[in-house]
Amino acid sequence: NQMREAQRALEAPLFSGLPGDIEVSFEFFPPKSEKMAQTLWQSVETLAPLDPRFVSVTYGAGGSTRERTHAAVRRIVSETDIPAAAHLTCVQATREEVDQVAREYWEEGVRHIVALRGDAPDGGGSYAPHPGGYQNAADLIAGLKQIADFEISVAAYPEVHPDSPDRQADLDNLKRKFDAGATRAITQFFFDPECFFEFRDKAEAAGIEGEIVPGVMPVMSFAAVQRMSGLCGTAIPDWMEGLFEGLDERPEARQLVSATIAAEMCRRLYAGGVRQFHFYTLNRAELSYAICHMLGLRPKA
Ligand code: FAD
Repeated sequence: NQMREAQRALEAPLFSGLPGDIEVSFEFFPPKSEKMAQTLWQSVETLAPLDPRFVSVTYGAGGSTRERTHAAVRRIVSETDIPAAAHLTCVQATREEVDQVAREYWEEGVRHIVALRGDAPDGGGSYAPHPGGYQNAADLIAGLKQIADFEISVAAYPEVHPDSPDRQADLDNLKRKFDAGATRAITQFFFDPECFFEFRDKAEAAGIEGEIVPGVMPVMSFAAVQRMSGLCGTAIPDWMEGLFEGLDERPEARQLVSATIAAEMCRRLYAGGVRQFHFYTLNRAELSYAICHMLGLRPKA
């Protein structure tokens, strides 16, 4: 594997993208304040000319951002031409409540749902489905498909979901989500491209034919990424810790380092045949914009 990785990296030119060669999507979270809403909106406007195939808005734990997610998605639908995707989870809601949210989205012209199980609302404990709710993401997809013919994206885990007994069980679960009607899986963030390639190979071997798009997380704050990685099981390579050492008080240098790391990862993914990328923007445009630029993407006139 190391040989294969080294080979790919050597063969990949520094600016590998060809015009029109790649497709991107961007993920945002619902803003908590007017100021954050402005930042989000500026980011949407900055990234829109890159012609993303969709932008998505996350759903807070336990449905806590239900209204704010809805408002952000509605604004994207009414003020831009970008297809909007709404994240939706099963947490702390009955089937009827979740169905109602989905019906409203459909009526407002939202055709794409990122269907997720979600996590226990307290952040810690283990997940338990609501007694009258959807059991998991696959169950939610089946329900959504009965409401309308939504396009559905789901989550996938190159480093295995922490709740999963093993890799195979996790792949079986992913296959169930495709079988229930998903068209695409977006991965949890990761920092080792080879781990994505292995996952892609294993998914294919497990009979999964749907699209698997890497979720790219440009590092805004290394401490925050360490925290998130601990929760979701993403490994942080040793070299990365070294690269961010001493940059806490140097935001500009940190941003250059972040862009370099993410661009290098995307370059390797591209060399390995990846043509679709999903960016966890954290509502900031510049890093994602720079990485897309390095991948060859240019704003549409
Ligand atoms: P599922 O696919 O239902 O599975 C979760 C785990 O349970 C897997 O390990 C699976 O193998 C196991 N499992 C499920 N069903 C069974 C079964 N019948 N038998 C045995 N094992 C089973 N969270 C939010 O709260 N809001 C968001 O907006 C959000 N967006 C996300 C976007 C992306 C791209 C990603 C990767 C994650 C996102 N998450 C979000 C996090 C997600 O909710 C958590 O990772 C959650 O723990 C699992 O959700 P899931 O949809 O993958 O669950």
